[in-house]
Amino acid sequence: MKSVCSWVLSVCILGASFGAMAEFESPVIKKWTKTHTNKKGEKITTEYMTIDGIMVHEMDPEKQPQPEIVEPPKPATKRKPAGVPSDAIVLFDGKDLSNWTSTKEGEESKWEVKKGAMWPTDDSGMIQSIQEFGSCQLHIEFATPKNPEGRGQGRGNSGVFLMGRYEVQVLDSYDNKTYPDGQAGALYGRSKPLVNASRKPGEWQTYDIIFHRPEFKDGKVVKRATFTVLHNGVLIQDNYQLSGGTGWRGMHSISEYEPHGDKGPIKLQDHGNPVLFRNIWVRPLED
Ligand code: MG
Repeated sequence: MKSVCSWVLSVCILGASFGAMAEFESPVIKKWTKTHTNKKGEKITTEYMTIDGIMVHEMDPEKQPQPEIVEPPKPATKRKPAGVPSDAIVLFDGKDLSNWTSTKEGEESKWEVKKGAMWPTDDSGMIQSIQEFGSCQLHIEFATPKNPEGRGQGRGNSGVFLMGRYEVQVLDSYDNKTYPDGQAGALYGRSKPLVNASRKPGEWQTYDIIFHRPEFKDGKVVKRATFTVLHNGVLIQDNYQLSGGTGWRGMHSISEYEPHGDKGPIKLQDHGNPVLFRNIWVRPLED
């Protein structure tokens, strides 16, 4: 009886693993063996495996080039922003808004720059990067107002919008309850953060965002956007597949995907709260 059970179990496991294997189209994996005789006359069989045509542990730089050397950034401190990796595109280094523009055509942005930070003034509207990006790694630092006013969505609200439309919420979520899918680090209306890693109001915080753009065909999404987000170094979105848009559509509804191009600007929200931003850089990624 025991052997029948274990046989059934093996078949199930085998079936499950075949089922799982069938889902993967890439990478293409090939395996083979070669047998040769060593100096002692012994037969040695070596197993070979290629992943997308590259041999496992390939040393030939023609076949598998060494990764580019990038100098990593120094961490942020209370006063100083984090460093910047040597291959990043810097959008804001604390000096000016030369890489930014108003989202309203023909208008100058009313965002201000002082003491190394940028922020929205009264009714200044959103601001957007002049350069556009698709899939990318984005680093941004923010500080919600030191003396918080309001509550819920009204306290330290802003947002970081990838491709100008997919919002990683910025909010003062330190001792400030709101709907979880709208607190700091939420993909607004779609996904609450895994944990609340917020610092106190007025303290500098970091988002490190790895974003892969969605793809569309015949007016429909065929590949969803994905987000991995670290808030102050803590994982809060783990390769999350966005099921649609993040645009507010009323108290209990959120926007759907709408087809768009391969690139869009980074937008920062003016939600009526003077949230500070500093040290914004991007590294474009392969889709
Ligand atoms: Mg917001």
